[in-house]
Amino acid sequence: SMKRWVGKTAIVTGASVGIGAAIAERLVIEGLQVVGIARRVHLIQDLSRRLANEKGKLHALRCDVTIEDNILKVFEWCREHLGPVHILINNAGIVENTNLIDGDTRKWRNVIDTNVFGLCVGTREAVREMVRHRVDGHIVHMNSVGGHRVPYFTFSNVYPGTKHAVTALATTLKKELSANKLDIKITSISPGIVKTEIGKSCYNFEKQVSVSPSLTVEDVVDAVIYALSTGPNVLVEEIILQPLHEP
Ligand code: NDP
Repeated sequence: SMKRWVGKTAIVTGASVGIGAAIAERLVIEGLQVVGIARRVHLIQDLSRRLANEKGKLHALRCDVTIEDNILKVFEWCREHLGPVHILINNAGIVENTNLIDGDTRKWRNVIDTNVFGLCVGTREAVREMVRHRVDGHIVHMNSVGGHRVPYFTFSNVYPGTKHAVTALATTLKKELSANKLDIKITSISPGIVKTEIGKSCYNFEKQVSVSPSLTVEDVVDAVIYALSTGPNVLVEEIILQPLHEP
């Protein structure tokens, strides 16, 4: 049940659109104090206004997760205004139109910085906060089927590499947390294709999405809520979600 999280603080990265916005919305409806972060903060502010009559509240903060200082400022804001952070949803992620053989290093770096570096910094700060306040928190990484196998269609060739890194980072973190006897959960959620804005920046991805069966953002939100709802002795390590007829 989500009861134990009511009134607690959750940070959702990439909460302006897509899967992240849908997760933020559901957590507000469940009664949490949600801090939604992204570069397009006005979109989170719009969502916050639409959720004004729900049980919880959505706080909108501007943050580029590729900039360490931006992330530190978010955690400072939480400390000042809301207290301990209980949940971190590492959802911000991008694909870019680039490939390995003749690709653009600026784009590679952007994908790596967003999908891996930003996720690591957020995770470090969340764990520090949870330890400081002795909170049994939960960290969720938005991974991808591309974090387990490389799709047969080519797109943004560093993307599957970054998501394989997320798979390894979730396992590494789990080991670190249990070696330190911390009751903090780490879950990796790996969806197949979901129709969102993500394809806009990558022609091959968009083309594939347009002809493939897909999941809805709600399907992904349901998986996140399931992982968060488990009892104290249960860890949902990994959920791989595919449309019934995968591409
Ligand atoms: P969208 O493009 O719809 O949303 C991506 C979100 O990430 C936006 O809110 C965007 O906000 C945010 N974001 C991107 N870069 C940054 C940054 N530097 N700093 C802060 N926020 C950032 O994509 P999805 O909702 O589809 O993707 C969400 C997650 O799900 C990603 O990690 C993606 O890899 C993963 N995923 C998606 C799949 C799909 O088919 N759609 C399949 C499997 C996994 P803003 O631009 O305002 O900063």
